[in-house]
Amino acid sequence: MEITIFTIFPEMFQGPLNTSILKKAQEKNLVSFNIVDFRGYSPSKHKNVDDSPFGGGAGMLLKPEPIYYAVEDVIGNKEEYSGKIILMSPQGQPFKQKLARKLANEEKLAFICGHYEGFDERIRTLADYEISIGDYVLTGGELPTMVVIDAIGRMIPGVLGEQESFLTDSFYEGLLEHPHYTRPREFRGMTVPDVLLSGNHEEIRRWRRKEALKRTLMRRPELLHKTELSEEDIKFLAEINEEEHNEHD
Ligand code: SAM
Repeated sequence: MEITIFTIFPEMFQGPLNTSILKKAQEKNLVSFNIVDFRGYSPSKHKNVDDSPFGGGAGMLLKPEPIYYAVEDVIGNKEEYSGKIILMSPQGQPFKQKLARKLANEEKLAFICGHYEGFDERIRTLADYEISIGDYVLTGGELPTMVVIDAIGRMIPGVLGEQESFLTDSFYEGLLEHPHYTRPREFRGMTVPDVLLSGNHEEIRRWRRKEALKRTLMRRPELLHKTELSEEDIKFLAEINEEEHNEHD
């Protein structure tokens, strides 16, 4: 995947994109990053990228010209670009695993990072997607872009290796993931559930599925309404409800 990032703080990306999984993904030529400082595209003598809002008010806004010129120069005409252009904004659609999966199938992505009080409204017309990483306001679009790239990057085929462990991650199928244990079998009196040591794969699968359902029901019940449940799941949920009921009696 070819990823282009438009930002006025290119240095912010050096650590996250060149560490761990994303570093390996670049070494395996599965992903490449082109970080573009759109300040260089400002037509003004002092390379200004921001200006005060028409109508007054606090803060400065990103001007349209530097971003438009940078996008047109680096990725060309929006209609001819074979990827998707994403604008980071707290007003965008909430970023979810489902969208990460969809975007992981693109060959090219471009991210525009806002800053200051926001951006001139006309910049919105450049974007195919406007994405928010949560209902809070950050200083700029750089950290949100890194969050989105990290979530997408690990789902690009080959990036996590042969196991593609993201297939069992929380949210992938709509549920939170089941609990995990590793060595030692006992730590400070806390033991590993016997079933995980049994070697019985079917029993382990059933235990994990029921635990995933239980965890989702306890922590994020609204996710269950959006998940396709099997007959087995419905039976597990009934058992969980009964167990909970008995516990509180
Ligand atoms: N005044 C803007 C508003 O209320 O919508 C917020 C501007 S914010 C200080 C500056 C930039 O940071 C935004 O243009 C956007 O690019 C980025 N940003 C801040 N919070 C974000 C979030 N939750 N998700 C995605 N991007 C965000």
